[in-house]
Amino acid sequence: MEPEKMEIIEKPQFTRKVFWDNPYLTELKAKITSVEDNNITLNQTIFYAFSGGQESDEGTIGGNHVLQAKKEGKNIIYTIESGKCYNVGDEVTISIDWARRYELMKLHFAAEIVLELMYKKFPGIEKLGAHIAFNKARIDFKYDGSLADILSEIEKVANEIISNKVVVKSDFSDIENERRYWEITGFAQVPCGGTHIKNTGEIGRVELKRKTAGKGKERIEINL
Ligand SMILES: [Zn+2]
Repeated sequence: MEPEKMEIIEKPQFTRKVFWDNPYLTELKAKITSVEDNNITLNQTIFYAFSGGQESDEGTIGGNHVLQAKKEGKNIIYTIESGKCYNVGDEVTISIDWARRYELMKLHFAAEIVLELMYKKFPGIEKLGAHIAFNKARIDFKYDGSLADILSEIEKVANEIISNKVVVKSDFSDIENERRYWEITGFAQVPCGGTHIKNTGEIGRVELKRKTAGKGKERIEINL
């Protein structure tokens, strides 16, 4: 008896995040899976949407500037410049501003290293927030006193990790719920859904500055 032919459903139920499989891709063809005014979703994407303190990418979809990229569950909704009407199934090319994204990736990972070193130096220290922009990153800690004295030590160790050109592994810890982590063997394994470089050497060099961010709050600013 011949088995019944199964219909293959091509359209996934959510946006496949190619920026995780390959964070170095700058262009990708994708199919539009939904259209609502100038908000569209795609079957796959390289265009990162703001989350975990890392800013959204900038770039174009089908040649139209992306005004906003917003994570919604496992989907990413892109608001594009109005002008062109799209239909579900249309093929478009996604193109991201690579210079900007690469700076974001390097700064993001520099911040990851600094944060881990801070956790090792001050076990239990509370992170109040973090922001990664393309030209600088910052992490705020709950801390009574000044981090001025230990900053050069943190900077020195961070730069050792960078100049040692250490391999960074990134993978899923839970595919179904899209949970990701990065790992440096013998250093740390950290949950994070951002885009990560493959080798710490890519960062080049890091410079840390202390900023006061209010009473009992210390800010470390990270520059490349
Ligand atoms: Zn990360």
